[in-house]
Amino acid sequence: MENVTTLDWTNPALLKLDLFCKGLRVDDSCLVEEDGGRKILRTRAGLGSGLELVLPGGLWTNAPVTERFAQKSPWLIRRREQRYWLERDGVAPIEVKLSPRPDWYDRKTTSGKPMTRVGTLQGTYLGVYPAKVCEYWLEDDKSNCKFCSVGLNLGLDDDVEKSVDEVIEVARAARRESGITYVDFNTGHYEGETFLDILEPYIRRVKEELGLLVGVQTPPHSDLRRYDRLRKMGVNRVSFCFEIFDPVRFREVCPGKHRQYGLERYLDAVRYCATLGSSGPASEPWVTNGEIIAGLEPPESSIRAIDWITSVGAIPTVCVFRPLSGTDYSNLEPPKTEDMVPVFKRLYEACMERGLPIGCAPNVHVSLVLLPEEGRYLSDRKFRWQTAKNRLLATGLKMSLNRRWRRLEARPGAETPQAVAAQ
Ligand code: SF4
Repeated sequence: MENVTTLDWTNPALLKLDLFCKGLRVDDSCLVEEDGGRKILRTRAGLGSGLELVLPGGLWTNAPVTERFAQKSPWLIRRREQRYWLERDGVAPIEVKLSPRPDWYDRKTTSGKPMTRVGTLQGTYLGVYPAKVCEYWLEDDKSNCKFCSVGLNLGLDDDVEKSVDEVIEVARAARRESGITYVDFNTGHYEGETFLDILEPYIRRVKEELGLLVGVQTPPHSDLRRYDRLRKMGVNRVSFCFEIFDPVRFREVCPGKHRQYGLERYLDAVRYCATLGSSGPASEPWVTNGEIIAGLEPPESSIRAIDWITSVGAIPTVCVFRPLSGTDYSNLEPPKTEDMVPVFKRLYEACMERGLPIGCAPNVHVSLVLLPEEGRYLSDRKFRWQTAKNRLLATGLKMSLNRRWRRLEARPGAETPQAVAAQ
């Protein structure tokens, strides 16, 4: 680390990483839900179950609070005079905000389902897991990924089946009341590679009726032309979670993915999709993500993954390993913050060196990962030209989306926001 000292807790990226790695104790003075914060959900993302906070610098964060390791964290969150503070021995208290809980979290769909069982905000985007549980969890000899909690939690905080109408209703409420710009659809593995068939009806309606940015996170389909079809449909992001770049470790951590697809197929899909940017509708931005988990292989291997992903024109999503309660890896230790810093520094620098469009989607703050653009706090390199280019892209995209949403809201038959609020 060059300019970043491990004691500089005014650095928001360092603080976010340290909370991911050490967790947070919650003082009895905290009144999270009474103060308008979000209930701690065992969300289906498989990696997150914590307290949603906004750190200084506007970094949205999901801090682990329920796991064993979080109980011995040096960080404590305390409520004083209706404000929230992170405290740690020898460190001046740091004020944080609770991520606001939207009103629609307390409403039901017209079919009678609590809206949070259809989709929830993760940071500032809507995450939907529309189908049944990943089938690796249903085998007699389970082959689920060892860090994953999806099969433990589905049905607790989330409904197993969600109709397209229900998802549209929740996404519309989230658009109008929470200002979301992006919906992320996520599935696990299903025999017969049905995951894209399941998602397409949802995607079509979200694009046609709400005009939101849409992302898809599934295993890699063997017919790569399916991604050309998604591109034409207006999908904006495809993400492939291969988690681990070291082939031997991949096999240990993700036995189902290894057996069914293999690491190479994930990499082929990332490589292929990264070429599709110029072939779809010009009004729809397109990014390909390769997703990895740092902390389950050596940092050098995570850095190799970052360099490979960016070399093919894709953007890495890097999660920090969290040993979630009840998972196969619940007894492992989370990684050390100092091991994570070089990984996230490289994440930012590699994206900027390759001229990749990071931080361009309006109002997309992600709490479960440290975003590539948030890694700038860990680097002393400036990348002035690329930063200016990304800002320009962001402004253009925001303006074009605003025009699109105004057009859709003015369409005959579109429900008025007042009518929706009265439901
Ligand atoms: S593929 Fe792995 S990470 Fe994804 S839901 Fe299934 S078990 Fe979990």
